[in-house]
Amino acid sequence: MSAILLKGKQVAKAIYKQIDVEIEELGENPKLVIVVIGEDSASKFYINNLIKKGAKHKIDVELLKFPADVEEVEILNLIAKLNDDKSVSGIMLQKPFPKHINDDKITSIISPDKDVDGFHPQNIGKLVLGKDGFVPCTPAAVLEVLKFYKIETSGKDIVIVGRSNIVGKPLANLLLRKDSTGNGTITICHSKTKDLAAYTKKADILIAAIGRANFIKENMIKKDCIIIDVGINLIEKNNVQKYVGDVDYQGCFDTAKMITPVPGGIGTITTSLLLKNVVRAFKINSK
Ligand code: NAP
Repeated sequence: MSAILLKGKQVAKAIYKQIDVEIEELGENPKLVIVVIGEDSASKFYINNLIKKGAKHKIDVELLKFPADVEEVEILNLIAKLNDDKSVSGIMLQKPFPKHINDDKITSIISPDKDVDGFHPQNIGKLVLGKDGFVPCTPAAVLEVLKFYKIETSGKDIVIVGRSNIVGKPLANLLLRKDSTGNGTITICHSKTKDLAAYTKKADILIAAIGRANFIKENMIKKDCIIIDVGINLIEKNNVQKYVGDVDYQGCFDTAKMITPVPGGIGTITTSLLLKNVVRAFKINSK
C-alpha cells in the first residue's frame, strides 16, 4: 500500500485564510524586515517565498542586504534601530551568519516582541516552560501538519533525527507538552547516535531534520510509520537541480503510512507561520 501524502499546501491555505481575516480587522499592513548577510542559495528560496506571500496577504516585506564582510557592529546598530522603529512589526535574520558575526549576540538583542523567528532566549525559555511566546516556525509547522491531519501524538514513540536549536530541540519540547499535539515519548538522535536505525525503526512518528539528501532509507523505518520530512536539500541530477528531503521518499513510500513531500510539505507551512507571527507581532507592538 502507498503512503498517504501529508501535503503542506492545504495546511498553509487554512493559515493564510486566518491571516487575511486578522489583517482585514487591523486595517493596516504589518511589516517584516529580513536582514540578509552574504549570499546563501538555500535561504533564497524561503526569502523569495516570504516576499511573494507577503505581497499577496498584505504584509509588507523589506529586505536589507549586507555583504558577507559587514562589520558586526553595523548589524547590532541596525537591530537597535529596527527595535525602536514603530513601523517595523517583526525582524527576521537569515541564518547561518558568516563566521565573524556572533549568532548568540545578534539573536539576543532583537526585541523578544519582534522576534518572529522565535529564536530569542526569552522565547525559547517560554517554549521550554510551556508559556506563550513566539515559537520557531519550522517546529510549529510540524505541529500544524499533525493537527491538520489529526495525527495522534499522545503515547506515541516519536523519534527526531537532528538536535539543532532551530528544529530538533524546540520540536522535542513542543511534542513533550501536555496538550493535543504533545504527550509523545520523544527520542532525539544526532550524528553521534550509535546504531541510528535501531531508533528510527521503533518510531511511530519519525521526524527527519538532518540536512542530508535522501538519508533515511526504507530499511530504517517501521511499517506504517508516519514520516515528517523537514529536510530541504538542493541536489543536482543529470544537470538538473531539484529539492529533496532527508528521507528517501520513493524508497519509503510503500512502507510508511503517511509522509510529507519535499517540496510541498513542511517548508510551505513554515512560510505561512512566519507571516502569522508577523501579524501577532504587529498586535503586540501596537498595544
Ligand atoms: P543542522 O543545524 O545542520 O542540524 C542537523 C542535525 O542533524 C544535527 O543535530 C546533526 O547532528 C544531525 N545529523 C547530521 N548528520 C547526521 C547523521 N549522519 N546521523 C544522525 N544525525 C545527523 O540543520 P537544521 O538547521 O536543523 O536543518 C535540518 C534540515 O532541515 C536541513 O535540510 C534544512 O535545510 C532543513 N530545514 C527546513 C526548514 C523548513 O522550513 N522545512 C527550516 C529549517 C531547516 P550533530 O548535532 O551531532 O551535528
